Amino acid sequence: MSELSELYQQVILDHNKKPRNFRTLETANHSAEGYNPLCGDHLTVYLNLENDVVKEISFEGSGCAISKAAASMMTQAVKGKSKQQAQKLFSEFHSMVTGNEEREEGQELNNEAEGLGNLRIFEGVREFPVRVKCATLAWHTMHAALNNLGTTSTE
Ligand code: ZN
Repeated sequence: MSELSELYQQVILDHNKKPRNFRTLETANHSAEGYNPLCGDHLTVYLNLENDVVKEISFEGSGCAISKAAASMMTQAVKGKSKQQAQKLFSEFHSMVTGNEEREEGQELNNEAEGLGNLRIFEGVREFPVRVKCATLAWHTMHAALNNLGTTSTE
C-alpha cells in the first residue's frame, strides 16, 4: 500500500468518526441540499457569508465515509475564504478528482497543488467514478449554497 493511500484511509476514518463542523448553522444566510443518488449520500451545507467571505460553514446529513469525510474537509478548507477563493478551490478539487487538471507545458505544477493542501489525498478516487460523486458532493452543494441554487444532485 502506498503512503498516500494509507494516509487517505487514516484521514477518511478520522473525519468520518469525528466530522468537523457537523451541525446546523443558526446564523446561516445561505444553504443548499445535495444528493448523490448513485450512493445515497444526502447532505445540507450551511454558510454564513459576510461581505463575500465565508465566516462560518457547516454541514449535516448522512452518507458513505467518503462523502462525509470530504464534506468535513471541505468545510475546513473553505472557512474564512472569500467567495471567489471558495469557487476556485471547488474547481481545483473537481479537476483533481476527475483527472482533468490542466497543466500547460513547462508550467510548475505546484500552484494548484498547494491550494488544495491535504485535500490532495482524494486524488486516488479518480480511479473510481462512482466515488468521485461521493467526494465532490459536498463541494457541489457548497457551490450551490454560495450561488443560491437550492438543491443539487451529482447525477
Ligand atoms: Zn457515497
